[in-house]
Parts: sequence; C-alpha cells; structure tokens
Amino acid sequence: MIGDVEGTGDVALMRLALEEAQAAADAGDVPVGAIAVVAGAVVGRQHNHKEEWGDPTAHAEILLLRQVSNRLGRWRLPDVTIYCTMEPCAMCASAMVHARIGRLVYAVDDERAGAAGSVFNILQSPALNHRVDVTRGVLRDEARAQLDAFFAHLRRKDEERRQQMQRAKEALAQAQLAAKNA
Ligand SMILES: [Zn+2]
Repeated sequence: MIGDVEGTGDVALMRLALEEAQAAADAGDVPVGAIAVVAGAVVGRQHNHKEEWGDPTAHAEILLLRQVSNRLGRWRLPDVTIYCTMEPCAMCASAMVHARIGRLVYAVDDERAGAAGSVFNILQSPALNHRVDVTRGVLRDEARAQLDAFFAHLRRKDEERRQQMQRAKEALAQAQLAAKNA
C-alpha cells in the first residue's frame, strides 16, 4: 500500500510516475510515466517507449492499460486511478474511456496535443458513453522541469553533432588543399 488515492496520496503516487518518466528520458524517450492504482495499491507502472521501440503507440498510458488489464484479467477498469506525468493525447484518452477508467490525475498540461481539456476533452465529452474524473496540476513544476531538462539535453546533443560535422568538413577541406599543393 503506497498511498490513499483520495487526496493526500496523490503527490506520493505522482512521484512514482515521475520516476517512471525519468526511466524513459534515460533511454532517450520523452519523459512520460504512468502509474495505476486500485484501492491505494499500485497495480501497474509504465513509461514511454516510442523512440526506443520505434512504435508510435508505445505511450506510457497504453502500455499501462494493457499491463493492468492483463494483471486484473478484465478490460473494464472503473476502480482504477491513473497517475500520469503529462496530459494524455487523444489516443491514450480514448483508450482510458474504452477501459472505463474511474479517475485520472496528471501533472503538466500538453498545450499542443492534450486530450483532457487543452486541445480536446475526450475524457469528459458528453458525446461519449463514459466520463473520467480528472485532477490536473499535481507536481506540475517537477514534471515541467523534467521535460525542459530532457529537451535541453537533446538540443545540446544536436549542437555537438553539428560542431563535429563542421570540424570534419574543415579537416577534409584542409586535407584536399594540402593534396593539391603537394
Ligand atoms: Zn498518448
């Protein structure tokens, strides 16, 4: 038992999701992590594997729903609360509606693709047959800092590669000049 899903446990459980997200970042994937909880017990934890597996559907939440369904032996998951470091995309939000998830807690909004209210609101659409309770902003600053650090690291690596290419080009040009003058 790790925490009470109603209130005080949210922060502790989101910290676990942030740990999962860090595992994604360490493997070169955008840091997104997700934890599933039933009656205060963690029943699943997953992170984003999109780049590592080359799989556009390998988002943390999709992998998590699969893991939890397998473990519980059912696809209806109304007793499950999901803690996710980032607002789910349309694919993941749809999967949560399909699974009849009871509650979603997430950290940081995804202004470009979020489907829990930022761009779409699939989790609470009156057009669908199930609505998910949503709590947003738990450990938002921590999740934002983790994402910023990841993208800053990517930019640094890109710049290093660019400088390496430049040095290689200069060395080649010098060698060619030396050969011509020889
Ligand atoms: Zn997704």
